[in-house]
Amino acid sequence: YHAKAAGRNNYQFFTQKMNLAAAHFELESSLRSALALQQFELHFQPIINMGTRKLHSLEVLLRWRRPATGLVMPDQFIPIIEDNGLIVPIGEWVIRRACEQSMEWRRQGLRPVPLAVNLSPRQFMHKGLVPSIRRILDETGIEPSLLEFEITETALMQHGDQTLEILDQINAMGIRLSIDDFGTGYSSLAYLKRFPVKKIKIDRAFVKDLEHSAEDRAIVSAIVALSDSLQLSVVAEGVETEGHYYLLQRQGCQFAQGYLFSKPVPAETAVHLLEQVPVTTGSS
Ligand code: C2E
Ligand code: MG
Ligand code: MG
Ligand code: MG
Repeated sequence: YHAKAAGRNNYQFFTQKMNLAAAHFELESSLRSALALQQFELHFQPIINMGTRKLHSLEVLLRWRRPATGLVMPDQFIPIIEDNGLIVPIGEWVIRRACEQSMEWRRQGLRPVPLAVNLSPRQFMHKGLVPSIRRILDETGIEPSLLEFEITETALMQHGDQTLEILDQINAMGIRLSIDDFGTGYSSLAYLKRFPVKKIKIDRAFVKDLEHSAEDRAIVSAIVALSDSLQLSVVAEGVETEGHYYLLQRQGCQFAQGYLFSKPVPAETAVHLLEQVPVTTGSS
């Protein structure tokens, strides 16, 4: 009995692993054709000026509209395309599409609002990045000041000397840079001074329990103080409640992003955010 049961368990374990491997293989091969099949789309989430509650900028977030599955979120596929290198062409498409969208809104007479695009580590280190950004600026005619890039601490720390060079080149084009998910990565405060970064985004891990955690309040207030003294702007991510908003504002945080204002929305919906002043919150 024992041996039989164990055998069956092994077999189940084996088929489970096979199924997982097969699913992964299928996912990867669908991703290979997704760009050509125009299955990617951009969603936009407002970043709010806490003083005025007005829209400051929009973060650009990638979505994959996979037939028969529906909308796939980046956590489900970014790690895979980061791994197999597809992030390079797909990431370039994101930058281009964001710039085109900005120009479309411009032509419609909407007020210009900066768009913040995420750059992954692999994309950041790719030799073609800077030339491709140049080409996109040229071809779309977007004002560089309307474009921002978000890079995580870990991506910045991974690559030593080259990092500074690339950041300087991007900065010289007039594109602003910010550090994403601040506080969760491999942090070294020294680089904040060295890198041409203008903005820090406090990871939502520190915002989530702000109302109940004195530690998180201390961490946030330290990050805000540090940013102030280095003359960097601060954005809090994951602002979901008026309580978060109140505490962050009291601590001197300038910008906020989160479900309190809006989830990421498709371009057609984001248009209304560009018209609407100030942005009303979900809860009121
Ligand atoms: P991120 O850059 O830190 O983006 C913020 C994420 O937090 C988004 O998830 C957003 O929907 C979510 N979020 C915003 N407000 C709230 C809130 O109040 N509560 C909660 N629980 N979540 C909130 P999303 O869109 O699923 O993206 C996840 C990550 O995928 C992004 O994190 C970013 O690292 C990556 N990503 C998204 N689009 C791109 C892209 O075009 N290129 C690259 N390289 N990475 C991307
Ligand atoms: Mg981001
Ligand atoms: Mg973030
Ligand atoms: Mg993140």
